[in-house]
Amino acid sequence: MPEETFVIVGASLAGAKAAETLRAEGFAGRVVLIGDEPERPYDRPPLSKGFLTGAEPREKAFLHEEGWYGEQRVELRLGTAAAAIDRAAHEVRLASGESVRYDRLLLATGASPRRLDVPGATLQGIHYLRTMADAAELKRALAPGGRRVVIAGAGWIGLETAAAARGHRNDVTVIDPEPVPLHAALGPEMGGMFAALHRLHGVDLRLDQGVAGFWGAGQVSAVVTSGGAEVPADVVIVGIGARPNTRLAEEAGLEVSDGVLVDASLRTSDPDIYAAGDVANAYNPLLGRRIRVEHWANALNGGPAAARAMLGRDVSYDRIPYFYTDQYDLGMEMSGAPAPGEYDAVVTRGDVASREFIAFWLSDGRVVAGMNVNVWDVTGDIQNLIRSAARPDRDALADTKTPLSDLL
Ligand SMILES: Cc1cc2nc3c(=O)[nH]c(=O)nc-3n(C[C@H](O)[C@H](O)[C@H](O)COP(=O)(O)OP(=O)(O)OC[C@H]3O[C@@H](n4cnc5c(N)ncnc54)[C@H](O)[C@@H]3O)c2cc1C
Repeated sequence: MPEETFVIVGASLAGAKAAETLRAEGFAGRVVLIGDEPERPYDRPPLSKGFLTGAEPREKAFLHEEGWYGEQRVELRLGTAAAAIDRAAHEVRLASGESVRYDRLLLATGASPRRLDVPGATLQGIHYLRTMADAAELKRALAPGGRRVVIAGAGWIGLETAAAARGHRNDVTVIDPEPVPLHAALGPEMGGMFAALHRLHGVDLRLDQGVAGFWGAGQVSAVVTSGGAEVPADVVIVGIGARPNTRLAEEAGLEVSDGVLVDASLRTSDPDIYAAGDVANAYNPLLGRRIRVEHWANALNGGPAAARAMLGRDVSYDRIPYFYTDQYDLGMEMSGAPAPGEYDAVVTRGDVASREFIAFWLSDGRVVAGMNVNVWDVTGDIQNLIRSAARPDRDALADTKTPLSDLL
């Protein structure tokens, strides 16, 4: 009998945490972790924050010491892409031509930046940010300072890199077609708060207009907006969202629709194949619908949940989406996903102007999301409010003297 083998494709947060969990839960068979990047698994959030500003060394981003993989008998295959899945043979074919047999397979292939397809898009000096290699290149471009940096997209990546670029004393312009930054993630009310923050720190925010193209002779020298303006640029960063890496799953005939479709136990349409992290579009029993979450905590918790399910444990993955960001002196945590159209009111407690407050998004009186800004140790209470589906009194919700736990 060949040794029972669990294969994980994607050596990043979801994949590495799944491997760790398999061993922690006592799995004694082979664990093979396949990744196409050259580095061992690392955290991506520092790439647009401490690593980019220079506050944190590269080494801090790695998830495990180099020796951990050998100690835990996790066979790490780096710099190797999985090219195809043969479901009938239970094999993953690698780009090198080698095949690895699996009993259970986890897809943790994450997401890749959406590309801006406009004239001039291949000029030098246009950056995307997903990998450690991307971040190192971007840091080399930003660190000297005194450069004209233009950022396409006022989402999380765009705003965090804007803050890092300002930290290196560059001139920064951010261009976005929506009326406020983070419109799709937070809606207009709190998007406006982020606009004020960045303007206060000297960012030229150009909203209600997109990027129509780039000028330059080899190297980018200007960005052309949809309004026809030309914005001079030495460095361009494109942060316009990400797409799930579903090619392997699609070609293997798994069900895919904005991510690999999985049930609440993170199992795909093939009972021996699971998916977790950014690539998974999972049924969330708490929300009563599928959701694809492109956030760190979802990979951190989803990888282990999938590992437990692969071991035959009862798993119902019902985490509330959670996200955090750091920009200048603002630190925030977000629970829930309050896209425009999915709430009807926003209530705040604390002082929005001095950026020390909590915002609650309500739908029909129920709290569906909450964001704490420079206020700490309240995530548990906010998530309890969301889970409870209670309809708290709005004045009490806005009153800093009323403990959140009293509102349940
Ligand atoms: C710059 C940046 C900053 C971020 N900041 C935050 C933050 O502040 N807060 C937050 O909540 N989230 C943040 N995120 C999001 C967070 O990092 C992701 O949600 C998380 O990395 C998802 O982990 P994952 O393991 O699912 O996928 P990924 O981290 O995308 O990893 C997938 C891995 O699989 C590899 N792969 C893909 N296809 C194959 C294949 N066929 N064969 C082999 N390997 C393959 C990829 O190259 C990659 O290494 C940030 C992301 C970025 C890029």
